[in-house]
Amino acid sequence: MSNTEDIAERKMQFLFALRSKGVTDKRVLTAMENIDRGPFIRGHFADRAYEDTPLPIACGQTISQPSVVGLMTQALKINPRDTVLEVGTGSGYQAAILSQLARRVYTVDRFKRLATEAAAIFRQQDLTNITTLIADGSFGLPDQAPFDRILVTAAAEDPPGPLLAQLKIGGIMVLPVGQSNTVQSLIRVTRSEFGYDYDELRPVRFVPLVEGLGRDTE
Ligand code: SAH
Repeated sequence: MSNTEDIAERKMQFLFALRSKGVTDKRVLTAMENIDRGPFIRGHFADRAYEDTPLPIACGQTISQPSVVGLMTQALKINPRDTVLEVGTGSGYQAAILSQLARRVYTVDRFKRLATEAAAIFRQQDLTNITTLIADGSFGLPDQAPFDRILVTAAAEDPPGPLLAQLKIGGIMVLPVGQSNTVQSLIRVTRSEFGYDYDELRPVRFVPLVEGLGRDTE
């Protein structure tokens, strides 16, 4: 098989896996077709970039499984004019998908190394509507708040209060909730003028949301 055929075949299998796991939103599928997961994975796992599996990245973290990225993105119901906050940049892959669907994306990680490497890929891929910051995202980004959508890609025991407060009325936040090292629940929080509504979406497994900045030697 030639190289081009090989790539086309892998892409087809990648999209097929997403659809069969319930990613059906056309805009989300198009975004995931346009953003190549390859550049976000380094080292000897690079050749597994198109498998529907989570993979290790630097600083002891993981890049999420593509179908989970798709399902979380779909659950956010992003509108083209939205400003989105992602807590947990990691490899930057999820932020890159969000950048295709929203007007502006702010993404934060507690590890300087992860934020810096992700920002370099965004520049290289011309994803100019993403702002990458190093911060403890459990406090949100008060200077840029409020947000139309918030996505947390690390598990907290409860939805962090500052993130709930930084959600616009009519806004949606998707996050895994539960203890680390166990199965957690993916939750969707919708803010209305009367308060917050909670939906439980599916079981997931994420690395924990950790307080404070990370040391890059970790
Ligand atoms: N969305 C990522 C995967 C996230 S892994 C991707 O597409 O690759 C979870 C990330 O959350 C890790 O990089 C971890 O450093 C980060 N994280 C954990 N606690 C955090 C906190 N309090 N603030 C910001 N980032 C945090």
